Amino acid sequence: MEKQLKILMIGAHPDDNDFRCGGTALNFIEKGHSVRFLSVCSGSAGHHTMSPDELCLRRQKESEAASAISGIEYDIWDIPDCEVMADLETRKRMVCYIREYQPDIIFTHRANDYHADHRNVALLVQDASYLLIVPNFCPDVSALKKTPVIMYFYDKFKNPSFAPDVVVSIDSKIDKKYQMIDCYESQVYEWLPYTNGVLCEVPKDKEERLEWLKNPRVPRDGTMLTEKDLNIPIKSNNSEYREAAPAVKFRDKLIERYGEEGKSVLFAEAFQVSEYGSPLSFEKGKEIFTF
Ligand SMILES: [Zn+2]
Repeated sequence: MEKQLKILMIGAHPDDNDFRCGGTALNFIEKGHSVRFLSVCSGSAGHHTMSPDELCLRRQKESEAASAISGIEYDIWDIPDCEVMADLETRKRMVCYIREYQPDIIFTHRANDYHADHRNVALLVQDASYLLIVPNFCPDVSALKKTPVIMYFYDKFKNPSFAPDVVVSIDSKIDKKYQMIDCYESQVYEWLPYTNGVLCEVPKDKEERLEWLKNPRVPRDGTMLTEKDLNIPIKSNNSEYREAAPAVKFRDKLIERYGEEGKSVLFAEAFQVSEYGSPLSFEKGKEIFTF
């Protein structure tokens, strides 16, 4: 048995981790590691008709449902959506929280992102990274001996562009990842379609709406998507094309990792190593990402 790792994935909102690294989390769980998802925000603002209190409660239940499916532990802080600040008080909270969990690896957003909450969460982790090992900062919780490896979720922002260090196949986890995403009803079938102006197109039937969510589907007949395919306008926020994008864009990395089999990977998740965490050597990367 490999050493059991503790993996902490830190997203701004209750569904961010599921969307961005749900497949990788499932891979870690399958290998016997512990995975915890932290949402720094309460989820209070992501709806057009529900009150913040009602919504927080509903999103808590959605996360619990995703947890029951995945075996991932979920934690949601009480900071209202759109109000995360990278200030001293929240920095201390983040440092204490990470020290208490003692993760081997942290995954989070990059600091250049469209959403202020995502940016500030990235900054909070960045600000915490060195302070984790400084005993005189937050002396009530023991400092870590070593900074964890810190990795960024894949995103499409360009200043600067995401640079993939680790790209993993999630082909064997894609169905379960969609089961997890399907739990976030308030988001994937209500709020996100509302913001995209397609709310009236979402089917009422549970199976039909999941099919709608996945559309357009990735071909299963051996035809591989190209970067050009990814540019077509897509109505669903969570289409299979979104799950396939890192595999299409970073095919060379998949071939480097899996050899010939990398050529036919359909779905992938990609991560960039933060220079503020512990370095991830090629050998260490192989020890951690054994899937
Ligand atoms: Zn978010």
